[in-house]
Amino acid sequence: MDRDRILLTPGPLTTTLRTKLAMLKDWGSWDADFNALTAGVRSRLLDIVHGHDSHVVVPLQGSGTFSVEAAVATLVPRDGHVLVPDNGAYCKRAARLSQMMGRKASVLPCAEESPISAAEVERQLLADPGITHVVLIHCETGTGVENPLQAVAEVCQRLGRGLIVDAMSSFGALPIDARETRFDALIAASGKCLEGVPGMGFVFIRKAVLDGCAGNSQSLAMDLHDQHVYMGKTGQWRFTPPTHVVAALAEAITQYVEEGGQTARLARYVDNCRTLVDGMAALGFKPLLRPEVQAPIIVTFHAPAHAAYDFKRFYEGAKARGFMLYPGKLTQVETFRVGCIGAIGRNEMRQAVDAVADTLREMGIPDGTPAAAALG
Ligand SMILES: *Cc1c(COP(=O)(O)O)cnc(C)c1O
Repeated sequence: MDRDRILLTPGPLTTTLRTKLAMLKDWGSWDADFNALTAGVRSRLLDIVHGHDSHVVVPLQGSGTFSVEAAVATLVPRDGHVLVPDNGAYCKRAARLSQMMGRKASVLPCAEESPISAAEVERQLLADPGITHVVLIHCETGTGVENPLQAVAEVCQRLGRGLIVDAMSSFGALPIDARETRFDALIAASGKCLEGVPGMGFVFIRKAVLDGCAGNSQSLAMDLHDQHVYMGKTGQWRFTPPTHVVAALAEAITQYVEEGGQTARLARYVDNCRTLVDGMAALGFKPLLRPEVQAPIIVTFHAPAHAAYDFKRFYEGAKARGFMLYPGKLTQVETFRVGCIGAIGRNEMRQAVDAVADTLREMGIPDGTPAAAALG
């Protein structure tokens, strides 16, 4: 097969040929042409979030987690205290990195199959006035559940606490409007719903808190305030930029706008998600989440109960048919995940379901019905 396999993973994901071709050029990191490319990307990112008046956007080299870590280190004072409502693996990661940055971090444990509760966050904030910031994962990619960003933002605003949002797997697809939702920082990355390639993150920082961030970071490379000041002065990244990644993201954003922006992207992902869930249901598979809390980003399915099921073989079977699945991330029940994002549409989702059906046949599994115990 000379076609790339379809990545049904939440980043890296399948990109268009145009986005891939945008990387066939070398850029000088000091050159005015590359500075203009960076400036254009930053401006169009602010367009997407309607944040030109209220926010700046600071790009950072590395995978998405680098930017989450940088946002915590830059936004939260060293004697600050972070609250992380926890309904999944990415929440746990955010709590852990906050702690490792030397910040006091409290976790609010929540059920994995449900959105976190803004009312519970409020109770926790009222009970502990020392908490300075909430770190919220918008779409918890570990399960696919969407958390209530607007409600938590309102609580934080009302109680005068900072809000840092990991919108890595939702930005560009789910609606986020800085004019309506108040956040101090919001983090996303090149290789998720904007359908660029992985290699850089970016953090929207509220202008009103930006100056106060000077000197918070205990890391040189991860200091977003310093990166912003330097970029403002020189138009350049402080350290070697991921030039090809920036070029690919610029091309990916152009296609995003051509497609119709956030509403069109969301509509395509919703259609992908529905096509996937319906097709899998016909094979007996059951999603972990109730439909009303499922974000159209990634779907967690229960593993089939059949004794012949083995994720590795299942994965290899789908891969041989051109589709890359994703392992589950739950500790209690056996699951696997299928991404709905990337430069793919209904046809690819149908073909993916066919590949799963074919793989089950090969494994001698009549259908995808999970164990009754897994369904509670
Ligand atoms: C992808 C993702 C990240 C970043 O993961 P990396 O592997 O560092 O790119 C962080 N948070 C969420 C919710 C994500 O989906």
